[in-house]
Amino acid sequence: MIDVEKLAEKILTQDRRALSRAITLVESSRKDHRAQAVDLVQRLHQDSGQSLRIGLSGTPGVGKSTFIETFGSFLTAQGLSVAVLAVDPSSTRSGGSILGDKTRMNRLARDPKAFIRPSPSQSHLGGVARRTREAVAICEAAGFDIVLIETVGVGQSETIVSEMADLFVLLLAPAGGDELQGVKRGIMEMADIILVNKADGDLKPAAVRTCADYAGALRLLRKREQDPDHFPAAMLVSAVAETGLEQAWKSMRDLVKWRKKAGHFQIKRASQARFWFEEDVKQGVLAVLAQSEIQQDIQKMGERVFQGDLLPTVAAAEILAKLPQD
Ligand code: GDP
Repeated sequence: MIDVEKLAEKILTQDRRALSRAITLVESSRKDHRAQAVDLVQRLHQDSGQSLRIGLSGTPGVGKSTFIETFGSFLTAQGLSVAVLAVDPSSTRSGGSILGDKTRMNRLARDPKAFIRPSPSQSHLGGVARRTREAVAICEAAGFDIVLIETVGVGQSETIVSEMADLFVLLLAPAGGDELQGVKRGIMEMADIILVNKADGDLKPAAVRTCADYAGALRLLRKREQDPDHFPAAMLVSAVAETGLEQAWKSMRDLVKWRKKAGHFQIKRASQARFWFEEDVKQGVLAVLAQSEIQQDIQKMGERVFQGDLLPTVAAAEILAKLPQD
């Protein structure tokens, strides 16, 4: 039996083992664990909300691990504490897409001002999202100045991360040709800052070109009312040569400062809170449904729809009629 009160106290002292245990607790889908997790999050609530939450996305190989290692160390060198969390959209992790992997962030993993938590292995994105959000709250309560939330994906995980982050940073690599690397428009639209990584050595000219292309694309894409001039921004970094970090960090801070002054920062967090409340309810309803007898009906009807015996519309109406109506 976990002593939630004690755990909460230890988290407030940044005890790493307590942090890990707490995150394991919120990741658990066991019913008793869930109740304890809710209790814990509530106890920590007062101490949450002070961190800057930065979402970071990019396809495998663009240099996310390397960048987090470098940028994280850059931040800790300034006296800031950094927690790294990950939302992994894939159930089967393939070579390049391991997220939050400590072995790929050696320096940061040993840094006493940093805490790295690999992504939970469950594949169900809705569940993973909630757990990551709760892990963010735990890290905030522990007093981390920065919470970096890493993801890689095809859109859905980016949406989830952008719904829990104050800033969304998209990491790109220099393009070979003049194509825009097949980055989905939706993901571009989420980005507050695009960082073109690997702006070093032979890759530098390509990085400069790519950065100019994206800066142009961002200008065309939209002008957000809630953002100051020059945002969304595109800039160059090199995670290996450790260049551009200062400027990237300055842009992040400028944007946050501006949004706080204009009140957009607080409004964004408030709408995120509402989004997660609704999301939790939806996930909860789906979980209840999955365990109810209706689930069998859904399967049977699904089969009949597949066979062409039943129209999808009619089948759905029949299922919904079985739910409590008011
Ligand atoms: P991830 O899959 O996005 O986490 O990418 P990694 O951080 O594992 O990096 C993929 C490859 O790109 C590795 O071989 C890195 O050494 C290389 N890489 C990462 N950042 C840079 C950079 O700034 N410059 C150069 N030249 N290579 C980099």
